Amino acid sequence: MTKIVIIGAGFGGIAAAVELLKAGYDDLILLEKADRIGGVWRDNTYPGCACDIPAPLYSYSFALNPGWSSRFPPHQEILAYLEECAERFGVSGRIRFGTEVGDAVWDGARWTVTTTDGEAIEADVLIPAVGQLSRPSVPHLPGAETFRGVAVHTAHWSAGVPIEGRRVAVIGTGASAIQLVPAIAGRAAHIDVYQRTPPWTLPKPDRRYGRARLAAYRKMPSLMRASRAGTWLLTLVTGAAVTGNRFADRVVRGISHLQRRIQVRDPELRAKVTPDEPMGCKRVLFTNAWLPALARPDVDLVTEKIVAVTETGIRTADGVDHPCDVLIYGTGFAATEFLVPIRVTGRDGVLLEDVWREGAHAYLGVTVPGFPNMFLVYGPNTNTGNTSVIYFHEVQARYIAQAVRVVDQGGKPLEVREERSDAYDREIQSRLADSVWVGCQSWYRTASGRVVTNWPGKAQEYRRRAGRLDRADFH
Ligand code: NAP
Repeated sequence: MTKIVIIGAGFGGIAAAVELLKAGYDDLILLEKADRIGGVWRDNTYPGCACDIPAPLYSYSFALNPGWSSRFPPHQEILAYLEECAERFGVSGRIRFGTEVGDAVWDGARWTVTTTDGEAIEADVLIPAVGQLSRPSVPHLPGAETFRGVAVHTAHWSAGVPIEGRRVAVIGTGASAIQLVPAIAGRAAHIDVYQRTPPWTLPKPDRRYGRARLAAYRKMPSLMRASRAGTWLLTLVTGAAVTGNRFADRVVRGISHLQRRIQVRDPELRAKVTPDEPMGCKRVLFTNAWLPALARPDVDLVTEKIVAVTETGIRTADGVDHPCDVLIYGTGFAATEFLVPIRVTGRDGVLLEDVWREGAHAYLGVTVPGFPNMFLVYGPNTNTGNTSVIYFHEVQARYIAQAVRVVDQGGKPLEVREERSDAYDREIQSRLADSVWVGCQSWYRTASGRVVTNWPGKAQEYRRRAGRLDRADFH
């Protein structure tokens, strides 16, 4: 029986486990470094943290949830949903918590996965599902270590972070910060928000789901399917806007412009929050509360460059010292590093970090030449800026189940052909070279500019291409 090790018990790892169990491969374990499942939904607990993709779509297609309290539910609900799915599909009992993987080595026939505690675990198939946004990125600001207040990254939030009556500094204006700031405005004595680049925003079409709707969903699951389909259509429009459709682009820009006109009366502040980068080169942010929060008298938007952190606050390029008690880094994640810090050694002793030195790449985002029987979930170029990544996870999970079947029945390792993988990578990168994502620097790109996280086309295209494993792609 094929023995399978999945690294990570977030949405991706659990999708893979469910699909493999469904296919009858039950000699599998999930190694999870934390003491709870959930990935980003376990780690991100900052005030205001919620889904920014409508939940009817941000959920497994095989486990639609009639219980969402709203279209964009808070993080606790998403975590509870995932835990419930893990339990319902028999995954929970297969997770080993507190087990962090240090390295994985292919010995020519099997993988040996070694934990940071030194335990060696053998597997025929290795499935890294560690996510793209699991490693917080904190900039190296001069003097940061001298700060005497509380400093915390949004992904390391704890209930003990003091906010009430404090002076708070928030660095960053990405998806995390735009949820956090409105949630703490009014509780803090004062908030300085440090903006390097104004983000594109759109109104968030949020709504609470009433009792009648929830009852109807329970009685008629087909209504949930309809809601999911409606959400899907909506994401097609936002997707079209950032993938070259001029009409959709104009409509979405117009809505964003109108939002600033309505929500920001002060022309000086409006100028500061008006984006100057191409729309969509970073994630477009859905929010109703961000701009009104910035317009509050107890919130200042600081656009001067940060030059240092002092013992008591932040110094900007104009020489002004901004005192603060709490410094919050909403500065994002090291998304382009993928499996770091896990050291993966493939065939002939080749290190994955060397293969990926110029930027991570994998055939269909799943499989890498030289690394037999290793299949990634949420690997390179499988992120989406406008729809649900869970859709992609499910496609990958089904692909991996097919791969495991080939391994199991053939009794031989499965390794993608280098020429197929190279041709695929050339195609993806040439399409990305014309995409909106090369229009600015973001977590989608490496320092050298290669877009390593995002899929260049529509989600349906990904499903079509990765829907059926082509045996000819492999040795
Ligand atoms: P992010 O989008 O990468 O934003 C990081 C912010 O920090 C940016 O505004 C960036 O400015 C700023 N920054 C970074 N280094 C800086 C420095 N040295 N000085 C000043 N500013 C600096 O990170 P994020 O907000 O954590 O979001 C990351 C991703 O997580 C999102 O795109 C989204 O996919 C996901 N997310 C999802 C949800 C959800 O609701 N589902 C919620 C939160 C996050 P620049 O723009 O100038 O680089």
